[in-house]
Amino acid sequence: MSFLEYAPAPESKAILNLRDSYGLFIDGEFTDGGGKSFTTISPADESRIAEIASADEHDIDRAVAAARRAYEKTWSKMSGRDRGKYLFRIARLVQERARELAVAESLDNGKPIKESRDVDVPLVASWFFYYAGWADKLDYAGLGANPKALGVAGQIIPWNFPLLMLAWKLAPALAAGNTVVLKPAETTPLTALIFAEILQQADLPAGVVNIVTGAGATGATLVRHPDVDKVAFTGSTGVGRDIAKAVAGTHKKVTLELGGKAANIVFDDAPIDQAVEGIVNGIFFNQGHVCCAGSRLLVQESIHDEVIDRLKNRLSTLRLGDPLDKNTDIGAINSAAQLARIRELSDIGEAEGAERWTADCVIPEKGFWFAPTIFTGVEASHRIARDEVFGPVLSVLTFRTPAEAIAKANNTPYGLSAGIWSDKGSRILAVADRLRAGVVWANTFNRFDPASPFGGYKESGYGREGGRHGLTAYLKGAAA
Ligand code: ADP
Repeated sequence: MSFLEYAPAPESKAILNLRDSYGLFIDGEFTDGGGKSFTTISPADESRIAEIASADEHDIDRAVAAARRAYEKTWSKMSGRDRGKYLFRIARLVQERARELAVAESLDNGKPIKESRDVDVPLVASWFFYYAGWADKLDYAGLGANPKALGVAGQIIPWNFPLLMLAWKLAPALAAGNTVVLKPAETTPLTALIFAEILQQADLPAGVVNIVTGAGATGATLVRHPDVDKVAFTGSTGVGRDIAKAVAGTHKKVTLELGGKAANIVFDDAPIDQAVEGIVNGIFFNQGHVCCAGSRLLVQESIHDEVIDRLKNRLSTLRLGDPLDKNTDIGAINSAAQLARIRELSDIGEAEGAERWTADCVIPEKGFWFAPTIFTGVEASHRIARDEVFGPVLSVLTFRTPAEAIAKANNTPYGLSAGIWSDKGSRILAVADRLRAGVVWANTFNRFDPASPFGGYKESGYGREGGRHGLTAYLKGAAA
């Protein structure tokens, strides 16, 4: 080891108090599931973490019935002020158990501990704090006096930010007075189940939140349950389409937060070192498992070579490895299936004629890994420029004029996010105005705040999460 290399700095797993198996959380209790249980593993070394119950149709029925009872008997009768007290209590318990939650998240998901510790878990707490503050102020949500909750919400979340997506879903739903049945993703159920323990600790009335684990079929059953009033989904566009079809023609309200293929646009007057950091954060944060990732870099032709050189230098300093090591920048890919998809799309990129560059990393023997990769010479017709890779893979395209940048940025079926790097405020505003993306970051990327609405255009879905807009998606009479 050379003098300047980092020594291992693993975060201890001793703080975890995991059970060998987890049941479904229904009506305030952990219960058995009727489906075939499954194992959740650590993607970093494929070791077993715990056995997880799977909910069948009967279990979904029980969970929705518990949510309905809790809605009618307790939650809809409680004052907003009292609901807010529960949310504040949950937020504080998340803070108290922050280290444990961060370790569990990195173990089950594969993301670096510095991200789960410094980004995911603090945002989870802030989401509950923020919506706790709204619970007694619904009259000011912009929907007139005394707006009413929708009833029972069925919520389905993905594996890329397991606990953060849970917070995005639960906090506004509960603040608005709904009760919930939530289904975590099958590869990352762990932190939702620890969160269920937090709900018990917070003495949240039984049935207000029910957590049902299982695979896609469990989600499909939940979406189709006739007594669900609201469906909220974050995940792939394909599943989003299936859900939209399933709820079409019913009374259910729906919000969908789906895929993306964001353009990160770097103009020649941008501060280049800052932009390089932003490009790295845009696509290599969370191994690129981010629906709003800046996966298409649009760089002005005159600075292309300089930006790419500096980017490659920067990527060569990133450390890939043990997600629980505090020095790790790039963790594990979440599953074997996702790794196969990233490999397939990258191979197609090469076959279609783009030039592939991969950071020189030592890949651990066990587990699922993919080194940071850049494709240059990408054309708009290439699949790596159009399809969501959902991995640490950046496609680089060039442009000459702002008009060309805008046309290329909007040339995608998606429209979730975009980034602009420029020294000129007027250019930022003019370009942002013409980008068909729900979120546009200027001289930064992948910033999240509970007060700020988030959501997409076109095939990136509909509805907004976060802020006052996120609240209205859970109230009657609201344009979601
Ligand atoms: P990915 O393809 O990235 O795994 P998915 O959209 O398949 O993302 O998964 C997101 C969530 O949707 C997961 O909780 C998954 O179990 C769930 N899911 C998958 N298929 C369906 C379906 N047909 N109906 C409802 N939920 C589903």
